[in-house]
Amino acid sequence: MADTSFAPPDVHVRFGAGLRHQAREEMRRLGCARALILSTPPQSKSALALAETIGEWAAGVFSGAVMHTPVEVSARAVEHLRSVDADCVIAIGGGSTTGLGKAIAYRTDVPQIVIPTTYAGSEATPILGQTEDGVKTTLSDPRVQPEVILYDPELVTSLPVGMTVTSALNAIAHAAEALYAPNRTAASDELALDGLRAFARSLEAVVAAPHDLAAREDTLRGAYACGAVLGLVGMSLHHKLCHTLGGSLGLPHAETHAIILPHAIAYNALVVPDLLAPICEIFRGVSAGATLYDYAARLNAPSALRDLGVTEAQLDQAADLATRKPYPNPAPITRDGIRTLLQAAWEGARPHP
Ligand code: NAD
Repeated sequence: MADTSFAPPDVHVRFGAGLRHQAREEMRRLGCARALILSTPPQSKSALALAETIGEWAAGVFSGAVMHTPVEVSARAVEHLRSVDADCVIAIGGGSTTGLGKAIAYRTDVPQIVIPTTYAGSEATPILGQTEDGVKTTLSDPRVQPEVILYDPELVTSLPVGMTVTSALNAIAHAAEALYAPNRTAASDELALDGLRAFARSLEAVVAAPHDLAAREDTLRGAYACGAVLGLVGMSLHHKLCHTLGGSLGLPHAETHAIILPHAIAYNALVVPDLLAPICEIFRGVSAGATLYDYAARLNAPSALRDLGVTEAQLDQAADLATRKPYPNPAPITRDGIRTLLQAAWEGARPHP
């Protein structure tokens, strides 16, 4: 079933079980005939299976995608693309694989088809984060926005339950921060609420039955809405903290989002409770931060930075880094305030209502 409700006019977005088998039709529509298929090393089997599906239209497979899009991997992938004379890329995987496809498109302007297998939502944005000499920078460029997104719930059934939950909380974080973004609009609010409602409706069903395709598809709709809103409005404290912790301490992306989210939202809920009230209504709670904490706990999400190997001493360094440069946020960013927030996240404490 096609669904282009949120998509910019030039992005073709479809949801449905088995859609990966229509990649060749999508290539034809784009005027392409030789795809380089991308994946991470652990997902190389899915990439090879897709190559088999599209037959002679598969020009090659590059299974070297890794987290945070290092520029040297992108350079190797572009070389591979040229050596097999590919005219488009198909990324099958999570945000890391999508990131590699975007990095190739940024350098060559080839069209991209993305078949997402997590809820990260990168496929719905024109944003590329890439790492050079250990420093991650982010850019936004129309060439980076994938042309086709095929959400095939069958592929997400292999996402382990723990990663399903953290990846969903990563998506929910985009929508939660969109609710107080300085450049939010009625349309971005609606998109954020659609994303939050989809997860509230279906994530617990997915956790109970990971092969429930209808529930998986609904969560993919949530991922798309949350990703699309991330591409529309600016993010604040939560994303800043996750970026800082990920970059300086090398923490895993989705788990870090899952742990920080209730605390960042509680910090801002003191100042903009009305803007965050929909979170209480959708996830059934009294205050936004505690509501998200309880929701994550019901799903057995990780709750403490110390369980990711962070030491208490590193919290000082993270608080310094996260408050070095000003950025838009509803509540004033103070070094003490952020240090207190990080302490609670380190301990896994429930935010105060
Ligand atoms: P990921 O893509 O690194 O995937 C994590 C691991 O799970 C990988 O080993 C992957 O192969 C595996 N995996 C993925 N799907 C699977 C499945 N269905 N079954 C089994 N294993 C599976 O992680 P992610 O959280 O999807 O993406 C994180 C990256 O995406 C980060 O680098 C982040 O910065 C980026 N991101 C970018 C944007 C953007 O708009 N630019 C948005 C969100 C995330």
